[in-house]
Amino acid sequence: EFSKLIKREVNEVIKALFMLGVMVTINQDIDFDTAQLIGDNFGVEVGQKAPEEDPTEIPEVDDPPEKRVPRPPVITVMGHVDHGKTSLLDAIRKTNVTSREAGGITQHIGAYKVNYQGKQIVFLDTPGHEAFTAMRARGAQVTDVAILVVAADDGVMPQTIEAINHAKAAKVPIIVAINKIDRPGANPDHVKQQLAEHELIPEDWGGDTIMVPVSAHQKTGISDLLEMILLVAEMQELKANPNLPAHGTIIEAQLDKGRGPVATVLVQRGTLHIGDTIIAGTSYGKVRAMINDRGEKVKKALPSTPVEVLGLNDVPAAGDILDSTDEKTARGVAEKRIAKKKEEEIKLNSKVSLDDLFQRIKEGEIKELNIVVKADVQGTIEALKASLEKIKNDEVKVAVVHAGVGAITESDVMLASAANALIIGFNVRPDANARKAAETEKVDVRTYRVIYDALNDVEAAIKGMLAPKF
Ligand code: GDP
Repeated sequence: EFSKLIKREVNEVIKALFMLGVMVTINQDIDFDTAQLIGDNFGVEVGQKAPEEDPTEIPEVDDPPEKRVPRPPVITVMGHVDHGKTSLLDAIRKTNVTSREAGGITQHIGAYKVNYQGKQIVFLDTPGHEAFTAMRARGAQVTDVAILVVAADDGVMPQTIEAINHAKAAKVPIIVAINKIDRPGANPDHVKQQLAEHELIPEDWGGDTIMVPVSAHQKTGISDLLEMILLVAEMQELKANPNLPAHGTIIEAQLDKGRGPVATVLVQRGTLHIGDTIIAGTSYGKVRAMINDRGEKVKKALPSTPVEVLGLNDVPAAGDILDSTDEKTARGVAEKRIAKKKEEEIKLNSKVSLDDLFQRIKEGEIKELNIVVKADVQGTIEALKASLEKIKNDEVKVAVVHAGVGAITESDVMLASAANALIIGFNVRPDANARKAAETEKVDVRTYRVIYDALNDVEAAIKGMLAPKF
């Protein structure tokens, strides 16, 4: 290929490489530096093509660090059910609206901003790590600091531990709010002890985790908590350039009867203006109106500002990334994303299965039946593999794409999914993760105890004579 590109005979190129001390055959890869040297040799300039742009992504904008300015931190509240996440969010909200604003209607748009000692803090309104993780799974990272709420009378519970692990996985700093200290059974020290077992050592014990005793009911400790949030946030030096096209994340979205698709976006970089063309996931449009968390219409939204946006042509999903761009790009990228999504859906639904195999062979869709084999002993694998690969007819042949000893694992399922293969387990079963993955990836997993049964099923499926499964 390279010789063709530089319009030389292959032998000449191989010879030149040989002179450089590089021994290659005709179909061997050479790296760029070597190619460049050979190019020099022949007086041909060799360059590297820029990696192709992904048509489903908005082109990156230049965002030099020196142009970024401080932005408010974004906080997520997590913790076990009933430990007081919602109450704490309410308490923070109520104690921190000034009298002028108190008259206005506060609007639940999925996030709100509070002012504390002249500084702003943004709180995401959907507590819990489920929303947090769902967003992260979509590649969105919006949280700067996680507040872990632990009830002082109940202590560390399963979801407390989950929340800790999720925050740690996202590398988000944790501040612990020990809540319900007004309760008679409250025992903050016991909570600290339990948290220490999960590597959250309180500062007063020589660790580095800030723990603040609060009561959402009596509204005590709230200002301490806000102060600590600002302190932790300050150490992160959170910055964003407001003078760029807006970039953010959809916090929540729904279809409103009167107003059409309504999405709350947290602007994370740049500024969003009325009239901007935006794209969020597969939906796009022009910003028709923006409403802040106080129910006021606004004309622009700066970094770390949550706003409700009207004007998208469809309802995006929470966690979708929002970008402001020109109309042509927005429409083009949205179309590409829709096409890609459809393609993925078709792929997901078209995994091979013994049940519809015959039909698909007849339609000429499948010419090779790929199989992943897992068994308890190596001997069985050899026997199964050899016999399976003998099964074929005029339309289809069987190929074992992977075989191994041991239980069927998630990675077997992912491999089968990628290869459009089915999995045959002999005297082994899928573990819990593998079962879950098989369900989402729609991979057909069959387990057997008798080799003859396995071979029989595959043979019957190919001939369209498989007895239906009940
Ligand atoms: P979430 O499930 O974590 O959002 O918890 P909630 O905010 O719904 O609170 C669960 C229960 O605990 C409710 O009955 C609250 O009234 C109560 N609760 C929350 N915070 C406090 C507190 O500081 N003191 C007391 N005594 N009860 C609280």
